[in-house]
Amino acid sequence: SGKFFVGGNWKCNGTKDSITKLVSDLNSAKLETDVDVVVAPPFVYLDQVNATLTDRIEVSAQNSWIGKGGAFTGEISVEQLKDIGCKWVILGHSERRHVIGEDDQFIGKKAAYALNEGLGVIACIGELLEEREAGKTFDVCFQQLKSFADVVPSWDNIVIAYEPVWAIGTGKVATPQQAQEVHVAVRDWLKKNVSEEVASKTRIIYGGSVNGSNCVELAKQEDIDGFLVGGASLKGPEFATIVNSVI
Ligand code: 13P
Repeated sequence: SGKFFVGGNWKCNGTKDSITKLVSDLNSAKLETDVDVVVAPPFVYLDQVNATLTDRIEVSAQNSWIGKGGAFTGEISVEQLKDIGCKWVILGHSERRHVIGEDDQFIGKKAAYALNEGLGVIACIGELLEEREAGKTFDVCFQQLKSFADVVPSWDNIVIAYEPVWAIGTGKVATPQQAQEVHVAVRDWLKKNVSEEVASKTRIIYGGSVNGSNCVELAKQEDIDGFLVGGASLKGPEFATIVNSVI
Protein backbone atom coordinates (compact mmCIF):
# COMPACT_ATOMS: atom_id res chain seq x y z
CA SER A 1 0.00 0.00 0.00
CA GLY A 2 1.52 3.29 -1.08
CA LYS A 3 4.85 3.79 -2.74
CA PHE A 4 7.77 1.81 -1.29
CA PHE A 5 9.65 4.01 1.18
CA VAL A 6 13.24 3.48 2.30
CA GLY A 7 14.86 5.67 4.93
CA GLY A 8 18.50 5.64 6.01
CA ASN A 9 18.95 6.65 9.63
CA TRP A 10 22.60 7.53 10.02
CA LYS A 11 22.17 8.05 13.79
CA CYS A 12 25.17 9.67 15.51
CA ASN A 13 27.71 8.51 12.92
CA GLY A 14 30.00 10.09 10.39
CA THR A 15 32.54 12.82 9.82
CA LYS A 16 32.73 15.46 7.10
CA ASP A 17 34.97 13.12 5.13
CA SER A 18 32.95 9.92 5.53
CA ILE A 19 29.72 11.76 4.78
CA THR A 20 31.17 13.38 1.66
CA LYS A 21 32.04 9.88 0.45
CA LEU A 22 28.62 8.47 1.36
CA VAL A 23 26.85 11.30 -0.48
CA SER A 24 28.98 10.73 -3.54
CA ASP A 25 28.21 6.99 -3.46
CA LEU A 26 24.50 7.74 -3.17
CA ASN A 27 24.67 10.26 -5.99
CA SER A 28 26.09 7.66 -8.33
CA ALA A 29 23.87 4.77 -7.18
CA LYS A 30 21.19 3.45 -9.50
CA LEU A 31 17.92 3.62 -7.60
CA GLU A 32 14.59 2.20 -8.72
CA THR A 33 12.33 5.07 -9.68
CA ASP A 34 9.25 3.81 -7.87
CA VAL A 35 10.65 4.23 -4.35
CA ASP A 36 10.69 7.22 -2.00
CA VAL A 37 14.20 7.51 -0.60
CA VAL A 38 15.13 9.58 2.43
CA VAL A 39 18.32 9.85 4.48
CA ALA A 40 18.67 11.26 7.99
CA PRO A 41 22.15 12.62 8.73
CA PRO A 42 23.14 14.06 12.11
CA PHE A 43 22.02 17.69 12.51
CA VAL A 44 25.47 19.19 12.00
CA TYR A 45 25.74 17.64 8.54
CA LEU A 46 22.14 18.16 7.39
CA ASP A 47 22.86 21.31 5.43
CA GLN A 48 25.99 19.86 3.81
CA VAL A 49 24.12 16.72 2.80
CA ASN A 50 21.08 18.56 1.52
CA ALA A 51 23.27 20.85 -0.57
CA THR A 52 25.33 18.07 -2.15
CA LEU A 53 22.94 15.13 -2.38
CA THR A 54 20.94 14.42 -5.53
CA ASP A 55 17.36 15.77 -5.49
CA ARG A 56 16.28 12.17 -6.00
CA ILE A 57 16.83 11.62 -2.27
CA GLU A 58 15.13 13.72 0.39
CA VAL A 59 16.66 14.65 3.70
CA SER A 60 15.28 14.00 7.19
CA ALA A 61 16.23 15.12 10.67
CA GLN A 62 16.54 12.56 13.47
CA ASN A 63 14.65 14.70 15.98
CA SER A 64 13.03 18.12 16.33
CA TRP A 65 11.97 20.45 19.10
CA ILE A 66 8.43 20.23 20.39
CA GLY A 67 7.41 23.78 19.43
CA LYS A 68 8.62 27.06 18.07
CA GLY A 69 12.31 27.82 18.56
CA GLY A 70 13.63 30.20 21.18
CA ALA A 71 15.35 29.77 24.53
CA PHE A 72 15.80 25.99 24.34
CA THR A 73 19.51 25.33 24.61
CA GLY A 74 20.73 22.50 22.44
CA GLU A 75 17.50 22.03 20.52
CA ILE A 76 16.77 22.39 16.78
CA SER A 77 13.41 23.74 15.67
CA VAL A 78 11.12 22.56 12.90
CA GLU A 79 11.36 26.06 11.39
CA GLN A 80 15.14 25.74 11.18
CA LEU A 81 14.84 22.32 9.56
CA LYS A 82 12.47 23.71 6.95
CA ASP A 83 14.80 26.67 6.43
CA ILE A 84 17.61 24.41 5.24
CA GLY A 85 15.32 22.35 3.01
CA CYS A 86 14.77 19.35 5.25
CA LYS A 87 11.48 17.55 4.42
CA TRP A 88 11.15 14.90 7.15
CA VAL A 89 11.81 14.16 10.78
CA ILE A 90 12.14 10.81 12.56
CA LEU A 91 10.22 10.86 15.85
CA GLY A 92 9.78 8.28 18.58
CA HIS A 93 12.86 6.29 17.67
CA SER A 94 13.62 3.63 20.27
CA GLU A 95 16.96 5.21 21.10
CA ARG A 96 15.15 8.42 22.01
CA ARG A 97 12.47 6.55 23.93
CA HIS A 98 14.68 4.13 25.82
CA VAL A 99 18.14 5.71 25.96
CA ILE A 100 17.19 9.37 26.18
CA GLY A 101 13.86 8.88 27.98
CA GLU A 102 11.28 10.57 25.74
CA ASP A 103 7.73 9.50 26.55
CA ASP A 104 4.65 9.00 24.39
CA GLN A 105 3.14 12.36 25.21
CA PHE A 106 6.30 14.32 24.41
CA ILE A 107 6.76 12.42 21.15
CA GLY A 108 3.13 12.94 20.18
CA LYS A 109 3.39 16.67 20.70
CA LYS A 110 6.52 16.83 18.59
CA ALA A 111 4.79 14.93 15.82
CA ALA A 112 1.75 17.21 15.89
CA TYR A 113 3.92 20.31 15.76
CA ALA A 114 6.12 19.04 12.91
CA LEU A 115 3.11 17.93 10.83
CA ASN A 116 1.30 21.21 11.41
CA GLU A 117 4.38 23.01 10.13
CA GLY A 118 4.52 20.84 7.01
CA LEU A 119 7.28 18.35 7.76
CA GLY A 120 6.71 14.66 7.04
CA VAL A 121 7.04 12.45 10.12
CA ILE A 122 8.58 9.00 10.28
CA ALA A 123 6.78 7.81 13.42
CA CYS A 124 8.59 4.94 15.13
CA ILE A 125 7.03 2.28 17.32
CA GLY A 126 8.25 -1.06 18.63
CA GLU A 127 8.46 -3.37 21.60
CA LEU A 128 11.36 -4.36 23.87
CA LEU A 129 12.43 -8.00 24.00
CA GLU A 130 10.89 -8.48 27.45
CA GLU A 131 7.62 -7.03 26.18
CA ARG A 132 7.60 -9.45 23.25
CA GLU A 133 8.39 -12.35 25.56
CA ALA A 134 5.54 -11.31 27.85
CA GLY A 135 3.13 -11.35 24.90
CA LYS A 136 2.74 -7.58 24.97
CA THR A 137 3.97 -6.70 21.48
CA PHE A 138 0.60 -5.54 20.14
CA ASP A 139 -0.34 -3.69 23.34
CA VAL A 140 2.91 -1.73 23.29
CA CYS A 141 2.72 -0.91 19.60
CA PHE A 142 -0.94 0.13 19.82
CA GLN A 143 -0.26 2.36 22.82
CA GLN A 144 2.56 4.11 20.93
CA LEU A 145 0.38 4.39 17.83
CA LYS A 146 -2.45 5.84 19.87
CA SER A 147 -0.19 8.53 21.25
CA PHE A 148 0.42 9.68 17.67
CA ALA A 149 -3.20 9.16 16.55
CA ASP A 150 -4.58 11.18 19.47
CA VAL A 151 -2.79 14.36 18.44
CA VAL A 152 -1.84 14.37 14.75
CA PRO A 153 -3.73 16.80 12.51
CA SER A 154 -3.86 14.37 9.58
CA TRP A 155 -2.21 11.19 8.32
CA ASP A 156 -1.22 12.51 4.89
CA ASN A 157 2.40 13.02 5.79
CA ILE A 158 3.15 10.16 8.18
CA VAL A 159 5.10 6.98 7.60
CA ILE A 160 4.95 4.44 10.43
CA ALA A 161 8.18 2.60 11.18
CA TYR A 162 7.82 -0.64 13.11
CA GLU A 163 11.17 -1.25 14.75
CA PRO A 164 11.27 -4.01 17.35
CA VAL A 165 13.88 -2.82 19.83
CA TRP A 166 15.50 -6.28 20.09
CA ALA A 167 16.24 -6.16 16.36
CA ILE A 168 17.89 -2.75 16.31
CA GLY A 169 21.65 -2.86 15.91
CA THR A 170 21.75 -6.47 17.07
CA GLY A 171 21.96 -8.33 13.78
CA LYS A 172 18.84 -10.20 14.96
CA VAL A 173 16.41 -9.20 12.21
CA ALA A 174 12.72 -10.03 12.70
CA THR A 175 11.65 -12.87 10.46
CA PRO A 176 9.46 -11.82 7.54
CA GLN A 177 6.55 -13.52 9.34
CA GLN A 178 7.19 -11.73 12.64
CA ALA A 179 7.33 -8.37 10.89
CA GLN A 180 4.33 -9.05 8.67
CA GLU A 181 2.26 -10.09 11.71
CA VAL A 182 2.83 -6.76 13.45
CA HIS A 183 2.38 -4.74 10.24
CA VAL A 184 -1.04 -6.34 9.68
CA ALA A 185 -1.99 -5.64 13.29
CA VAL A 186 -0.94 -2.01 12.92
CA ARG A 187 -2.96 -1.68 9.73
CA ASP A 188 -6.01 -3.22 11.43
CA TRP A 189 -5.58 -0.84 14.33
CA LEU A 190 -5.57 2.11 11.92
CA LYS A 191 -8.66 0.75 10.20
CA LYS A 192 -10.57 0.47 13.49
CA ASN A 193 -9.28 3.62 15.15
CA VAL A 194 -8.61 6.07 12.33
CA SER A 195 -10.18 5.10 9.01
CA GLU A 196 -10.14 2.51 6.30
CA GLU A 197 -8.58 5.01 3.93
CA VAL A 198 -5.71 5.88 6.27
CA ALA A 199 -5.13 2.18 6.94
CA SER A 200 -4.78 1.40 3.28
CA LYS A 201 -2.75 4.49 2.31
CA THR A 202 -0.27 4.75 5.17
CA ARG A 203 3.13 3.22 4.56
CA ILE A 204 4.24 0.86 7.34
CA ILE A 205 7.95 0.25 7.06
CA TYR A 206 10.16 -2.17 8.99
CA GLY A 207 13.41 -1.38 10.78
CA GLY A 208 15.91 -3.45 12.76
CA SER A 209 19.01 -5.12 11.28
CA VAL A 210 17.83 -4.76 7.69
CA ASN A 211 20.70 -5.40 5.28
CA GLY A 212 21.44 -6.18 1.67
CA SER A 213 20.92 -9.90 2.24
CA ASN A 214 17.64 -10.00 4.17
CA CYS A 215 15.76 -7.12 2.51
CA VAL A 216 14.28 -9.05 -0.41
CA GLU A 217 12.46 -11.63 1.71
CA LEU A 218 11.11 -8.90 3.98
CA ALA A 219 10.05 -6.74 1.03
CA LYS A 220 7.95 -9.61 -0.31
CA GLN A 221 5.60 -9.41 2.66
CA GLU A 222 2.35 -7.83 1.69
CA ASP A 223 2.22 -5.25 4.49
CA ILE A 224 5.88 -4.24 4.52
CA ASP A 225 5.95 -1.00 2.54
CA GLY A 226 9.63 -0.24 2.92
CA PHE A 227 12.41 0.00 5.48
CA LEU A 228 14.11 2.21 8.01
CA VAL A 229 17.76 1.23 7.85
CA GLY A 230 20.45 2.01 10.42
CA GLY A 231 23.91 0.48 10.08
CA ALA A 232 23.53 -0.66 6.47
CA SER A 233 22.53 2.86 5.38
CA LEU A 234 26.09 4.03 6.09
CA LYS A 235 27.27 2.05 3.06
CA GLY A 236 26.04 3.57 -0.20
CA PRO A 237 26.00 0.43 -2.37
CA GLU A 238 24.29 -1.70 0.31
CA PHE A 239 21.69 1.00 0.94
CA ALA A 240 21.00 1.10 -2.81
CA THR A 241 20.48 -2.67 -2.77
CA ILE A 242 17.89 -2.22 -0.03
CA VAL A 243 16.15 0.59 -1.93
CA ASN A 244 16.02 -1.67 -4.96
CA SER A 245 14.46 -4.59 -3.06
CA VAL A 246 11.04 -3.17 -4.01
CA ILE A 247 8.95 -5.59 -6.05
P1 13P B 1 19.92 -1.04 12.43
O1 13P B 1 19.54 -1.17 10.96
O2 13P B 1 21.35 -0.63 12.62
O3 13P B 1 19.52 -2.23 13.21
O4 13P B 1 19.07 0.19 12.98
C1 13P B 1 17.71 0.25 12.72
C2 13P B 1 17.19 1.55 13.15
O5 13P B 1 17.13 1.86 14.33
C3 13P B 1 16.75 2.51 12.11
O6 13P B 1 16.09 3.59 12.67
